[in-house]
Amino acid sequence: MAIPTTGDMTPNPRAESSYLLKPNLSTNYPVVDRGEGPYLFDTAGRRYFDGSSGAMTANLGHGLKEIADQMAAQASTVAFTFRNQFSNVAAEELARKLCQLAPGDLDRAFFVNSGSEASEYAIRMSIHYWKERGQPNRTKILGRLTSYHGMTMGALSISGHAGRRPDYGPLLHDFASVPPAYCYRCPFGLEPDGCATECADAWETAIAAHGADNVAAVIAEPIVGAAGGVLVPPPGYFRRLREICDRHDILLIADEVITGIGRTGTWFASATEGIVPDLLLLAKGMSAGYTPMAAVLVGQRIVDVIAQGSGSVPFGHTFSANPLSASICASVIDYIEHNDVLDNVNARGAELRDGLAALSQRHACMVDVRGRGLLWGFELVRDRASRRLFDAALNAAGELVAACLDHGLVVYPAGIAPLNNAIIVAPPLIVTTEQVGELL
Ligand code: PLP
Repeated sequence: MAIPTTGDMTPNPRAESSYLLKPNLSTNYPVVDRGEGPYLFDTAGRRYFDGSSGAMTANLGHGLKEIADQMAAQASTVAFTFRNQFSNVAAEELARKLCQLAPGDLDRAFFVNSGSEASEYAIRMSIHYWKERGQPNRTKILGRLTSYHGMTMGALSISGHAGRRPDYGPLLHDFASVPPAYCYRCPFGLEPDGCATECADAWETAIAAHGADNVAAVIAEPIVGAAGGVLVPPPGYFRRLREICDRHDILLIADEVITGIGRTGTWFASATEGIVPDLLLLAKGMSAGYTPMAAVLVGQRIVDVIAQGSGSVPFGHTFSANPLSASICASVIDYIEHNDVLDNVNARGAELRDGLAALSQRHACMVDVRGRGLLWGFELVRDRASRRLFDAALNAAGELVAACLDHGLVVYPAGIAPLNNAIIVAPPLIVTTEQVGELL
C-alpha cells in the first residue's frame, strides 16, 4: 500500500474547532496563551486573577523567567535518563534539597510524575516494607472519608472522596472509613471547646476493626483540600495520630501534595505539630506547575529494613527522576528560599484571612472561613444559624465559581461530594498586598 504524502491527505471532514477532550463537553473553556505573576490571559485578551493557583499548583505564579532559564539550560544539557540505568545530577540535587528541608529521618526521595503516582508509590512502598519485615499480611492502607489521594485505582481506593469513586466498584477497596477532622460539622457532634480530638481516636477504632496485623499504613492530608474545602484538624490531631501509629507499629503517610513546599507558610504542614511521618508525598507546589513532577520522601527506618532485606525497590515509572523536571523543581525551591516566599505567605495569608472574615460578616451564606498560610476555604450555607446547606441540585459552589470566572477571578470548588459546598481561595505564594486586595 502506498503511503500517502502530505499532498494526498484530505482534511478530516469532521474537523472541530478544538480536538482537546475537555472535562465538560458542553463548556467553552477560555484558551490561555500567556501568564504573568498571578494573572492568566486568554486568546480573546481577557485577564484572569488565578485566585486558586489552578488546582493549588501554580504556587509561584506564571511566566517566571528564572524558572524558564533553568528549564532551557537543563534541556540543552540532558533531558532524560532512565532510572534503572543511571542517576542524574539534577535529581540528586533535588533529592538533597528536599531531604535537607524535611523533618526527622526523611532522608531519601523517590520521584514520580503526579500526586496520584506518589500515592501509588507510597502504597507499594508500605506493603513492600512489611513484606521485607516478614509480615506480608499487612496490605491495608487506611484513610479518611473526606480525603483525596488521587485518581488512579490504588490512590482512589484509599480516598474517601465520594464524588470520584462511583462507577469503579470492583476495582476499588473501601479503605477510607475514618471520620474526618471537620470541626464546623463535627462527625461526633462536638464543638471545638468541648473536643478531645475524638476524630483522631477514630483511627484507633478503624485499626482495631481491620486488625492491626493487616494494616500497613494510614494516610492523611495535614489539611484536607479539594475533598473537604480546607479542613484544618484540631490542635494535637497529628501528634495523637502519630502516637496511635507508633503504638500499633503502623506507618504514617502524610499527603502533602497540596500543603507541601510552602503553601501553608512552612515547608511542610505536618511539621506544624512537630511530627515526622514515615512517608511524605509532595506534588503540586513542588514544581509550582512548571512541570509534572511529584516526590515521595521516605524515612530512613524504612530504607534500613529494605537494605537489610532484599536490597531492592522493584517499582517505578519510565519518567521517574526525570532530570529536566528535577532541575525545574530545584529552581522552584531556590526561588522560594532566595525571595523570602515563606514570609510572604504568612504576611499575605493574614491579610487574606482577615479580608475573607470581613466578607463573611457581610454575606450570610459565607461561613467558616478556615485555613492557614495562603490556603483558605469557606463554606456556603442556606441558613447560617442551622448551618443548613443548599440543595445539591443547586451546585452552589459551582455557580459561584462560574460567576467569579465571568468577573475574571479563578477560585476552586470543593467540599463534601456531591454537595460541593465550599470554595478554596489559594492564590500564588508571591502575591502582593495590592493583589490580595484585588482578589478580595
Ligand atoms: N493528594 C492530594 C491531597 C490532592 O489534592 C491531589 C490532587 O488534587 C492528589 C493527591 C492527586 O494529585 P494529581 O492530581 O497530581 O494526581
